[in-house]
Amino acid sequence: MTATASSAPLLPTYARQDVTFVSGEGSWLEDDTGRRYLDLVAGIAVVALGHLHPAPLAAAQAQLERLWHVSNLYWTEPASELASRLSERFGGAQAFFCNSGAEAIEAALKYARKATGKAGFVALEGSFHGRTLGALSVTGQPAKRAAFEPLVPHVAFASLDDPASLAAAVGSDTACILIEPVQGEGGVRPASTEFLAAARALADEAGALLVLDEVQTGIGRTGSFFAWEQLGVRPDAVTLAKGLANGLPIGCLLVAEDAAGAFEPGDHATTFGGNPVTCAAAVAVCDTVTDELLDTVLAHETLLRGSLPGLRGRGLLLALDVDRPANEIVADCLARGLLVATAGEQTLRLTPALTITTGELEHALGILEEVLT
Ligand SMILES: *Cc1c(COP(=O)(O)O)cnc(C)c1O
Repeated sequence: MTATASSAPLLPTYARQDVTFVSGEGSWLEDDTGRRYLDLVAGIAVVALGHLHPAPLAAAQAQLERLWHVSNLYWTEPASELASRLSERFGGAQAFFCNSGAEAIEAALKYARKATGKAGFVALEGSFHGRTLGALSVTGQPAKRAAFEPLVPHVAFASLDDPASLAAAVGSDTACILIEPVQGEGGVRPASTEFLAAARALADEAGALLVLDEVQTGIGRTGSFFAWEQLGVRPDAVTLAKGLANGLPIGCLLVAEDAAGAFEPGDHATTFGGNPVTCAAAVAVCDTVTDELLDTVLAHETLLRGSLPGLRGRGLLLALDVDRPANEIVADCLARGLLVATAGEQTLRLTPALTITTGELEHALGILEEVLT
């Protein structure tokens, strides 16, 4: 090697920790000096079943040796199987596969315009939907937007858990209301069931779609396969990405059967969407997120709440406000062999693998207790 990894010629878009990982298994990572770390980040809620989980690993390996890519001019078994799995879990839906969360949002925004013939989008302050220009346009965080304006017009923002502000933002021009069931990047803020019920009613009244961004909350992260299952609303569409293929790049727009039918051939596309290898891994992920695993997620949420008062979130998408810069705590934990992330200046974010063991969580709690006191 001619350069250390930390001086590699990458555009400096990320504030990276000074560590280079070379391998992982379950909830453990190993760096290039052989040091091991317990991972409560899981690639930001992406490696949902833990590193190198045998089910998606075997499925992806088998598919790698059969067929990599044929384009969307043809059918492949993995993409068809994945669409069927997701439709079944949703209770009837049609899928569009892409490669990231932002791309799933782009698909949702275009779908909503085509389906309703209207231009307007309503999103929430503090939301996060991705960094492409369309997804950024519905992201309610001025600091992320300012340098890139002008963005897509016809976007109105309402306040989370404030039905009156949502009612004021929705109008006859609204194509969709876009909500994260739990705001992830924006600080891990769960939407209340009352607010989501109000959003459902407002969308119906306005003839708009209710789109839930489940890029972070989906595939078991909150203790149900989709977060909406626990929240008393059925959306017209959801976006998925992070945990869906356990670390291989994938995104998905899933449209409820009764809201389907707006896209026709030629309306939307992406070259790598529905890639057989990633879809094969995702099918294995879906089959591994069983009711038993979801029960464990909820049991582990209870365990963590018992030890860390003030924890908020749902399932294993959790955060804790701290009384000093969260970055310092991340560094202190890293020095002790524990990976945690942030969700704001003074907020720690915990998104461990759904498969983390009780013993591993207790080990993590021991380190967190040292660092937080
Ligand atoms: C991460 C995230 C996105 C963006 O996903 P990318 O794959 O980074 O484009 C969108 N919405 C939510 C809720 C997210 O957490």
